[in-house]
Amino acid sequence: MSEKGSKFYAITKMKCPRCHEGDLFPGSNHFSFSKFTHMYKTCPVCNQSFEPEPGYYYGAMFVSYGINSAIFVAVWVTLALIVDEVTLTMMMVAIVTIVVGLLPFNYRFSRSIWINMMIKYKGIAAKKE
Ligand SMILES: [Zn+2]
Repeated sequence: MSEKGSKFYAITKMKCPRCHEGDLFPGSNHFSFSKFTHMYKTCPVCNQSFEPEPGYYYGAMFVSYGINSAIFVAVWVTLALIVDEVTLTMMMVAIVTIVVGLLPFNYRFSRSIWINMMIKYKGIAAKKE
């Protein structure tokens, strides 16, 4: 699953969807709060545009929403397993902490999923055109 050529590889490694070589984002720490919104305009390896049109990542917000919904369910289940009674306060504190803590990762991860849904893998990079 997690080798070059699979969507899973490209999404989790946050690689260019076309060549699976170039990075989508500068820096390797996807959990850092500094400059997490920085993204390359084109692939440093194959020159694939990472923003083919304005507002391209509008849809990534829905992916992000999906991820946050999954977090919500996971937190709920986890809390239900470890405490006798899950209170609203517990839920809010846990969810806000996790969602805010994962903000940089979620931002990058949802964009990575989005662009990989849209652009197909073309194999090892044909050099810059
Ligand atoms: Zn590329």
